[in-house]
Amino acid sequence: MGSEYEIVIQDGKRRPVHDVIMEGILGRPLKENEVVHHLNGEKRDNREENIQVMDRAKHIRMADGFPIKIQAVSGHVLFPLLTAVV
Ligand SMILES: [Zn+2]
Repeated sequence: MGSEYEIVIQDGKRRPVHDVIMEGILGRPLKENEVVHHLNGEKRDNREENIQVMDRAKHIRMADGFPIKIQAVSGHVLFPLLTAVV
């Protein structure tokens, strides 16, 4: 389906790899309202040029945020942990 992404264990918690990478780029933790968006829709493509911090509400409005849209759009899921591959 293309919506899976990799998980890392950080401080004992399971976290999406792209969140950890983005925090490294930003030099700070992600805020509650921030999500990491993959520009090309490929969630395993964590190159710096493919990932972008986005406001959570704005991300939803982009219509790639909900599982119900998976087939229609690009394989994005808003609640990725539900479909994450360990
Ligand atoms: Zn997105």
